[in-house]
Amino acid sequence: MLFERQNFLVAGLSRSGIAAAEFLSARGAGVFLYDDVDDETVRAAQAKLEALGCRSVKKSELDEKIEACDVLVLSPGIPVDHPLPIAFKRAGKRIVGEAELGVSALRCPVVAVTGTNGKTTTVSMLEAVFKAAGKNAVACGNVGKPITSCVEELGEDGVAVAEISSFQLETLYSLKPHVAVVLNITEDHLNRHYTLENYIYLKSRILKNSAESEYAVLNYDDPIVRGFAEKTRAKVVWFSAKERVAGGYLSDGWLCYREERVCREDDLAVGGVHNRMNALAAICAAKLFGVSNEEIASALKNFRGVKHRLQAVGTLNGVNFIDDSKATNVDSAVQAISSVKGECVILLGGKDKGYAYEPLFDEIKNSGVVHAVIYGENAFRILSAALKRGFTAVSLCRPFDMAVRVAYLTAKSGQSVLLSPASASFDAFKSYEERGDRFVELIEVLRKEYAAQQERAEGFLEEETE
Ligand code: ADP
Repeated sequence: MLFERQNFLVAGLSRSGIAAAEFLSARGAGVFLYDDVDDETVRAAQAKLEALGCRSVKKSELDEKIEACDVLVLSPGIPVDHPLPIAFKRAGKRIVGEAELGVSALRCPVVAVTGTNGKTTTVSMLEAVFKAAGKNAVACGNVGKPITSCVEELGEDGVAVAEISSFQLETLYSLKPHVAVVLNITEDHLNRHYTLENYIYLKSRILKNSAESEYAVLNYDDPIVRGFAEKTRAKVVWFSAKERVAGGYLSDGWLCYREERVCREDDLAVGGVHNRMNALAAICAAKLFGVSNEEIASALKNFRGVKHRLQAVGTLNGVNFIDDSKATNVDSAVQAISSVKGECVILLGGKDKGYAYEPLFDEIKNSGVVHAVIYGENAFRILSAALKRGFTAVSLCRPFDMAVRVAYLTAKSGQSVLLSPASASFDAFKSYEERGDRFVELIEVLRKEYAAQQERAEGFLEEETE
């Protein structure tokens, strides 16, 4: 892409928007900045970027800038049917995402990972595996580090391990990964993509440019992902937790790759079938880059998971607390329920994304979940699904802080309190991270209250014996 003498309007000044503006201004482009929000964080970003020569644009100046700019750089947070991209489209101009700028500038091979769930976990595992093999690998993309900011660091010899979301795929055209990994596809983000068909189509775009010399690592157990094999020119490598496929599979307690034993299942530091699937996908990608079984096994043994994904965050009075705040859809909560050992009280609810919650209760009814504490904006939709499925061990309890307290009081010693909400966080929090952090803070509040109660009780006992 030609940068010099072109004008770009960067819309949405989040982490990726800031990185895109920095990337473009370093390459001599004219950069204009726009954000619907006018708060301290956005103003700080504008000030930082204006110092580089970028210019901020007010809403009233947008029409003029649509005419003056050649390309719109759209934040993944802004849907493509927002009035701004529609106006650019009508004017016959290009709309790209930060990821598009990044992949068109990368000079090293890319492993691109998409799917409804498990992207961050798999990308983080793969980064660890490549690093164990001495490669200059960087986890980037949706995982946090924008692709544009890794271009120099990766050079020609590195490996970009890019997490690619469906939001990014809306404005990504040149991605041509050496290895594309598709983990799974279940209902998600329908409030943004409208239909499951549209969501599946967007996910399939990760394979759009692949040639015969490239690889598609596909989940054999997922019927939608399995169908992608027919849509790609890339060589297909399967992974499966059920069948001995040509690629990664489970056999006799081992994670295997094409007849080779790579790592013992029990050696994985992260639990659950879903994490074995993530590890199998990572193994396939790593083997395609020539990483040895020993290096893979050693990295997987030491990989402790990612924050807010089925993370054990403490014990109080024999009750274990598990933070799975990143479970923002039904399938990820289902995986959590089947992974947690023993009985648990689950915390469910938040911002509705338009799912049917009945399948969640089908799973809950046959699991160790003894009670569900339901909170959040979608509480009544979840409650209605629970009752439809005959699961009545529920408490409806808002707000979040109260729900956590009730979940703790409901759980018996030896049981867990599992925050795996099957919902987004935006009804009450800025992000799932903030929700998970609040959960951990509340455990500390409960811990202090319990300690104070103990102290008081000891005081009474002393008074009585005097
Ligand atoms: P993503 O980046 O795709 O959102 P994460 O690795 O952040 O995926 O995990 C999101 C949620 O999904 C967490 O609750 C996690 O426990 C769960 N999860 C992780 N891997 C899988 C998988 N392969 N299938 C289903 N759920 C998964």
